[in-house]
This record gives sequence, C-alpha cells and structure tokens, in this order.
Amino acid sequence: MKKTNCGRQLAAALLCVLLALSVLAPAAYGAESEETLIVGVPTDRCPVFYHDAETGEIVGIGADLMRAAAKKAGYAVSFRQISETTLKEALDNETYDLVMPFGSAIASATGHASVVSDNLIQTPFTLVTEGKRSLPPLSNIRVGMLSSQSGVAETVRQRYPGIVINTYETMPECVSALRAGKVDALLHNSYVWSYVLQKPAYSDLMVQPADMFSMDFRVGTLDTPEGRALIERLNRGISGLSDTEQQAITLDYTSRRLYRYDFADYVHEYGLIVLLSVSLFGILTVLSVQKRRAIRRAHEEKLRQVMEIDPLTGALSMKGFQKRAQELLRAHPDIPYLITYNNIKNFKFINDSLGRKAGDELLHFWAGKVMEKLSPEEAMCRIVADRFAVLRRIVGDEKIHRDESEIIDPVRNYFVDHGKENRVQICSGIYVLTPEDYQKADVDRMLDFARLAEKRVRETKKDGYAFYNPEQWKRGKQVADVCSHLPKAIQSGALRVWYQPQIDYVSGKITGAEALCRWNHSKLGWLQPAEFIPILEDAGLIFDLDCFVWDQVCQDLQRWQKEGEHRNVSVNLSRCDVREDRNIPGHFHDLIKTYGLSPDQLRIEITESAFAENPELLIRTTVKLRELGFQVEMDDFGSGYSSLHMLKEVPVDCIKLDLHFLSGTGDPERGRIIVSYMVQMVHALGMKLIAEGVETVAQAEFLKSRGCTELQGFCFYKPMAAQEFESVMKKARE
Ligand code: C2E
Ligand code: MG
Ligand code: MG
Repeated sequence: MKKTNCGRQLAAALLCVLLALSVLAPAAYGAESEETLIVGVPTDRCPVFYHDAETGEIVGIGADLMRAAAKKAGYAVSFRQISETTLKEALDNETYDLVMPFGSAIASATGHASVVSDNLIQTPFTLVTEGKRSLPPLSNIRVGMLSSQSGVAETVRQRYPGIVINTYETMPECVSALRAGKVDALLHNSYVWSYVLQKPAYSDLMVQPADMFSMDFRVGTLDTPEGRALIERLNRGISGLSDTEQQAITLDYTSRRLYRYDFADYVHEYGLIVLLSVSLFGILTVLSVQKRRAIRRAHEEKLRQVMEIDPLTGALSMKGFQKRAQELLRAHPDIPYLITYNNIKNFKFINDSLGRKAGDELLHFWAGKVMEKLSPEEAMCRIVADRFAVLRRIVGDEKIHRDESEIIDPVRNYFVDHGKENRVQICSGIYVLTPEDYQKADVDRMLDFARLAEKRVRETKKDGYAFYNPEQWKRGKQVADVCSHLPKAIQSGALRVWYQPQIDYVSGKITGAEALCRWNHSKLGWLQPAEFIPILEDAGLIFDLDCFVWDQVCQDLQRWQKEGEHRNVSVNLSRCDVREDRNIPGHFHDLIKTYGLSPDQLRIEITESAFAENPELLIRTTVKLRELGFQVEMDDFGSGYSSLHMLKEVPVDCIKLDLHFLSGTGDPERGRIIVSYMVQMVHALGMKLIAEGVETVAQAEFLKSRGCTELQGFCFYKPMAAQEFESVMKKARE
C-alpha cells in the first residue's frame, strides 16, 4: 500500500515535471525563434524596399527575401527606414541589428569593418541612358547613382576601377544630371528601373541591356563577435532559401503594377486633356460666377432704382439725390456749386382745374427739360409732389439767365403752349455752397437754406428766384472764374512769375529774390495773389499753380546760370501743399535735378500758419528739405499766431519777419521793442532773419540799428516781371 502510494506520488511528480516541461520548452524555444531583428533599409527603391501605400509597412523583394531567410533561422524581422543618407553611416547606428542591402563587406562611416551575410539573391544592375546612346566601356564611364546606394557604389568602384560615380539625393536629380550631360548613364538595380521607368516623364530613358551586371544582395552589420554570430545564424536561414522561393518573391513584385501616377505624371501623360479640362472647368466657373454677379447686380440695380428713382418723372428720388450730391461734392471739391429748391406756386389750382393727369404731365415735362441740360457732374430730384431740387455748377449770371429761358420759361408756358390759359408760376430759392459744405456734404441743410429763399419769393413775389446768400453767389462766381480758368491760364502764359529783390541794407547789394505769382485773367484783368490763392487753396488746386511757379523759377534760374549768374530765389509753398502730404522734398529734389541746379538756389518759404496747422508733418517735411540741402524759411512771422514753442520745435534756416505788425494797430513803441528782442533772439538761435514789407527808410534804419540788415519791401523794389528783374540785376552789377 505504502509502496503503491509511493509509486503514485512518483507518477504524479513525473506528470508535473512533464507538464512543466511541456509549458516551458516551447517558451524557451520561442524565446530564440521569435527574437526580432531590427533591420535598417532604404525605402526609395520600389519594388526592392518601399512603403506599402495601404499598410504603411516596409515591403518589397528585399524585405520578403530577408523575412523568409530570417524565419528559417528562427528570427522575426522588423524593418526600419534608415534615417542616414548612406548605408555606411547606417552601419554605425546601434539601433539597427542589421542593415541591408550590401554587395560586399564595406567599412562603416566611422571606419569599422563590417561583416555581411551570404548572398540572398543575385540582383541584376542595369545602366540607363537618355535615348539610345553608345556608351564608353564600364571602366571609363561617368555614372550617376542615388547617394543612399553608397555600398553598391563602393562595390562597383572595386570591380571597375576608373569608373566615375556621382551620387545624387533623389532620382529626379539623377535624371537631371543625366539630361544635363553631367553623367553618361545612371546605374540602379534592374528591379528598381522596372518601377522607375513607368514614370511618363522618363519615357525617353533607355535601358542598356548590353551593359548589365549583377550584384550580390547581402545583409550586414559591424564586425563584432555578436555580429558574426548573428550573420552565421542568418546564413543558415539563407542557405535554406530555395530558388523557387526566390523566384516567387521576385515575380510577385515585378509582375505587379506598383507605380502610382502623381499629378505631374497625369499632366505629362495627358497634358493636353488635363489642360483642356482645367481650362474648361475654369471657364465654366468664371462664367457661372459672372452670371451670378450679373444677376445680383441686376437685382441690386432694380432695388436701387426703386429706392433712388422717382417713378413719375424719372428724376432721382430725394434719397437718390442725397447720395449722388454727396458723391459729387466729395469728387469735385474744385467745382463751385449751387443748389436750388423749386416749387410750383399754383400747382393745386392746376390739378383742380386741369386734372391730376395734366399735373403729372407738367412734372414729367419739367424734369425732362432739366435733365436734358444737366452735365454728369450735376443732379436733380423730385423732393416730393411739385418740388424739385437741382445741384448745378456755377458758371455765372449768363447761365442762370439761360436756364431761365431754356428751362423755366417752357415750363411756365407748358399749358399756354397747349392752348390753355394757365400760366405756371415757379418759385426758386438758390443756395450757393461754401467750402464748409463740401466737407460736411449735408444736403438737407443746404436744401433748408434754399427753401428759405424760395419761401421769400413765394411770399413776396408772383414767381422768380432769390439767393439765400447773395455775397456767396458773388464769391461763387469768382471761384468759378478762377478755378475753371486755371488750366488754360497755366498753358497760355496768363500766369506769370514776378520777382521781388531782397537786399543787404549795409552794402546795398541784391542778395536774392522772392518769386510771386501774378495772373492776367482773360475776364477779370490783372489779379493779385490775395484774389486767387485762397480760392485755389479751398478748391484743392493750389498745388497745380505752385508746381507751375516752381518750374518757371527753375527755368529762369537755369537760364541765368547759363549766362554765368548763379542766383537764388525764394519760392512760396502753400500750407495746403504740406497738408496734402505731396512729397514736397522729393518734388524739389527732382526739379533741381531736371534743371541742373544746386539746392542752395531754391529757398522754400513756408507760411507760419502751416506750422500751427500740422506741426508733425511740417517738421518732417522741413527736416527732409534741409537734409536735401534746401534752405527753409518761415514766412510771415509775426502776422499770425507766432509762438515761441514753434521757434523751438521747427528747424528752419531763416525767419521772415512780416513788418505789417509794426505798422498795424497798437503802440508802435511796443512793436519796436518786440522787433529789437526778436532780432536778438533769432540771431541767438543761430537763424537768419529777413524783414519783409519794409516800406520806409526809417523802418530800414531802425532794423539796421538792431542788427537786421537783410530787407525786402517796396522801399527798395516792388515785385517785377522777370525781364525787368534781369535788367535791375544787370544795372546792379555795373
Ligand atoms: P508773401 O509770401 O508774404 O509775399 C510777400 C507779399 O508782400 C507779396 O504780396 C509782396 O508783393 C508784398 N510786399 C512786399 N513788399 C511789400 C511792402 O513793402 N509793403 C506791402 N504792403 N507789401 C509788400 P503778393 O505778391 O500780393 O503775395 C501775397 C501772398 O500770396 C504772398 O505773401 C504769398 O503768401 C502768396 N503767394 C504769392 N505768390 C505765391 C505763389 O506762387 N504760391 C503760393 N502758394 N503763394 C503765393
Ligand atoms: Mg513769401
Ligand atoms: Mg511773407
């Protein structure tokens, strides 16, 4: 029993050992057979090594062969794309157990010897040329290869001494080098060529079958005891790889159409079709966008018409008129405008006696008559019922009379001309726009003024018109005369530049001159600057006049220069020229270049009021002008709001003291004291001082006694025409 028990215990123990073995043994075997080798490979060699488009895994002939051989040696394999540019470098990377493919054992990048496996497969290598070219012998040829194939390159060099191998990063670079004649042929694995040459752009490349050779395809690692052991074990697997297996793997990949067209390939292959399709698509898209835009525009136009056009007369509605008037005022600040408010006094009576239809016809006729006469810069609207507003350009009294006879009279006589007795009575109020109106463009406000004038007519007269602001009308006419004549005056020579000499009172010599503008107006006669400069400034036209004056002065300076006289002239710069930021320094710089002058010949007078208007911009302009070599003078100092702060801030070369302030109201003695200290102060600040407006010898003597000797004024010379100035200068020299 004991014996039996003992036997049973033994059998149970044996069973446990067997069971444990049966569990442990496969585990121990598996630990060896499933050891995973990390193999670094290049992946730019479809179909030898490449990334599968669907799984992202590294696959290919090389990968499958290696996997099959490794399996036979009891290894699993995990492929990694080498991050190094060459296999030599990859050999030194310890993260890979193995690197492939090698033709033979080569040294690593750091010079370590390597050990390679037996040949996995004999790989054919082929030369590819551009077209059918005859090639020099392999020992004397320039070949292009991918730089990642440095291992192969080294083997080829060993095999064919004398061969020149240039390596390139990518296949397109290889092909460019071939096309540029930098190499005679490209060398690569035939399997890879079978893939690469499917690219349509490479259809001109030809395989050179006569120059084929084959290379071994081996796995390598650094020559270490572990490396050698690994290779030895792997070789056992390689030797177990049958020819049939090798061929099956090769055939599997070479028979598949692995090349995938990219956009460039499609363009190359189906260029014309792609181009036509893209163009057609583009045209259709553009057409459809245009059509949609046209529909939208038509829709908007319809809406606009509903909102902005009066359906009865075809004139603008009040809303449309406001919009149009604002646009016009902003676009044409230089056009003098008036706005009229017109009303039919006896319209109710007309409607009652002749019927509404007759009333409507009259309104339609009136609107039509006005619109016939309007230029594109003018506008009219029906405000409501029998009231019309017109924005009209001011030309002069004649135009008002013409409008009276050509528009108002036919409307007045509309029914009389149709054989009825009713004479239409029209009352109009006229408001002449002021410069402020152009900025505000408040149409309602202007119409209110015109309506007040109309009301006066309605209450005091039978019909007719009245101005809300008759003084403004006078000015409006003058503005029209000045602004509309300016371009012609510039061209015809009606605008002239006169010169007023400046003298050194001690020596009596002429030191310079100021250019002053004069206008011989065809309608208004000789005009002084005070009569046209403020108008041109308000209308935004002063820059045109100034440019003309500066140009004329430069022409004169150039002429005098040619006659051997190097003169200097002060020119005036309007505060508006500065305010509008018209790159004044650049303009003057170009001018002196054009006329071959030096900057000291032009002195730029900027009126004191401009300094007060926009100090920052003015300081910038002044600094730039002085940098370019021009002298800057502060004009009219003492006539406006001269401030000590301004003298401190603005870097000018000269102050032009306006003597009007001596002769004006106030205590003359106080004026003299101020002048005395001003002279001292300006000199102490290192600036020049010119006194202008000197009318008497007493004034000149006083200024001299205080140290101010540069003078300009009627006491010496009045402004004169250029010719007269020239003869004065000649006389002064004699
Ligand atoms: P301004 O630049 O201060 O020019 C001096 C003005 O004083 C000139 O008037 C000149 O004729 C006048 N004047 C000179 N000496 C005397 C004198 O002893 N007594 C009196 N009562 N007046 C004297 P003008 O030519 O009528 O010019 C007036 C202003 O018009 C100029 O003042 C200047 O600001 C402006 N101006 C003249 N021509 C131009 C020009 O081409 N462009 C610009 N933007 N402004 C100009
Ligand atoms: Mg001046
Ligand atoms: Mg002045």
